[in-house]
Amino acid sequence: MSYLPRELPHPEPSPEDVFYWDNCRDRKLVIRHCNSCHTFFHPPMPSCTACGSVDLGWRQVSGSGTIFSYTIAHHPVHPALKTSTPYNIVVVMLDGASDVRLVSNIIGAQPEQIRIGAPVELCWDEIDKGMFLPRFVLKTTMDAAGRETL
Ligand SMILES: [Zn+2]
Repeated sequence: MSYLPRELPHPEPSPEDVFYWDNCRDRKLVIRHCNSCHTFFHPPMPSCTACGSVDLGWRQVSGSGTIFSYTIAHHPVHPALKTSTPYNIVVVMLDGASDVRLVSNIIGAQPEQIRIGAPVELCWDEIDKGMFLPRFVLKTTMDAAGRETL
């Protein structure tokens, strides 16, 4: 089951990001990388957002990251979200591509469990047949007593 209703509009790949979406289908998270200044940026653009170079590549990232910011939405901004509130929207800083802030959601967490700085791991959410969105789960750790903590 998808985190948000399948009735929401789906991403429509453009020439700039079709490679990104193709990799999402294969459950690989790739990020645009500038071969001139080595900046990572997202969403994909035809030129580097830092230096303007068109010498660009892609780099696969692990999907580990940290919550940079978040909000809990209580108002359905689309009719399909009427039964999904409250839901979270997070901005994730990706390990290995710390220039990037990826907007996504945390799956399987209560709103009060979400906090800035929390470590997260990538998971894939199939929003339609063969279309996957990168979403995240909170990474659990063990405290000194061996209890699982978030
Ligand atoms: Zn650049």
